[in-house]
Amino acid sequence: MAVFARAPGLPRVAWARGVEVVDTDGRRYLDASGGAVVVGVGHGVEEVVEAAAAQARRVAYVHGTAFGSDVLEEYAAELAPLLPLDDPAVYPVSGGSEAVETALKMARAYHLARGEDRWVVVGREHSYHGNSRGALDVSGRAALRAPYLPWLGPAVHTSTPQEYRCGFDTHPHGCGLRHAERLEQTIADAGPERVAAFVAEPVAGAGLAACVPPEDYWPAVVEVCRRHGVLVVADEVMTGFGRTGRWFASEHFGMRPDLLTAGKGAASGYWPLGLAVASGEVHETIGDGGLVHGFTYSHHAVGAATGLAVLRRLRDHGLVGAAEERGAQLAGLLRERLGDHPWVGDVRGAGLLVGVELVEDRGSRTPFPRSRRVTEQLLAAAKELGLLLYPAAGCADGSRGDAVLLGPPLVISAAE
Ligand code: PLP
Repeated sequence: MAVFARAPGLPRVAWARGVEVVDTDGRRYLDASGGAVVVGVGHGVEEVVEAAAAQARRVAYVHGTAFGSDVLEEYAAELAPLLPLDDPAVYPVSGGSEAVETALKMARAYHLARGEDRWVVVGREHSYHGNSRGALDVSGRAALRAPYLPWLGPAVHTSTPQEYRCGFDTHPHGCGLRHAERLEQTIADAGPERVAAFVAEPVAGAGLAACVPPEDYWPAVVEVCRRHGVLVVADEVMTGFGRTGRWFASEHFGMRPDLLTAGKGAASGYWPLGLAVASGEVHETIGDGGLVHGFTYSHHAVGAATGLAVLRRLRDHGLVGAAEERGAQLAGLLRERLGDHPWVGDVRGAGLLVGVELVEDRGSRTPFPRSRRVTEQLLAAAKELGLLLYPAAGCADGSRGDAVLLGPPLVISAAE
């Protein structure tokens, strides 16, 4: 039977160690994107493999409504103090999209439990929160939504800070406040009593190539949400688990969300793990068993064992601090070596989540026409040279813009 491949003519992967991937023809690649910004602890870490295998040997699978597990309790206990939520409760799933779906349902369940019929979710333009229908509905990336528009429904989208092409640079207090005002208007238009949640990435990932919002943005946005009883959902699927030089990117802004989603770095690619996390207040309001929801593979013991081993590796090897240090080095080098290149418009990011925006004209910041397929060409050329990058979208001014993301394993050395 054919494999419905995600792209034509792919090389076949043979093995990987550290930051290196090797294909079956013996070609070596530097994994500068950790796959889809997934691999934090590096490839081929024996103790993570062993933790997953040991759990699978004990018991690989029971249904999450029939049994809890010690390993999941242990994982939750070690994860809790690292999360930017008060008294958090975790709902483990199989990936980022499932985590977002779960968080959306938690938001709805929270309001229903309080006797409020809220269902509208506010997302942001240019954002990406997953490809399942609920997560795609919240996502703002037009190209991904386009084929499925008839299926997409009640989510509405507000503006997002994008410093490189900010339309608000005349505001006396910085553009973050303008975006918070926009959010408040979006909530007002939707009917504040109907709005359940606001979903956003603390630092934008693929949708805007590692755009960091101005400092005044998150405090103002959280204040607007709290005033209208709207839950704040921090989507940390890409930014979580040390990627930006903090355990979670919310920390950069002193933000305490009501709900948080994670995935990717949580199990570093060794297991398909996603997490939806609720604050103590949201959890207690819904109550254990109060969420009409569930997946066959949620609360998986092998996922918990893998996540625990990854967490310990990140913590015991100081990889979160390493991400901050190596990230500053990487962004510095990119600016130094490529900063004058006529096609490099911007180098930005936080920690080891670094975006490079490509433009046809630096002075006017004019993007390349889409027909040039610049991102695709750059990715292919880099791969030819043995360098793996991840595609992203540039800051938008009506067109999508070209950009690439660098997000190597956090174990990358200064020399690498
Ligand atoms: N949320 C964010 C911010 C993401 O970057 C992604 C994936 O890129 C997702 C959600 C969806 O995660 P997954 O692909 O694991 O379903």
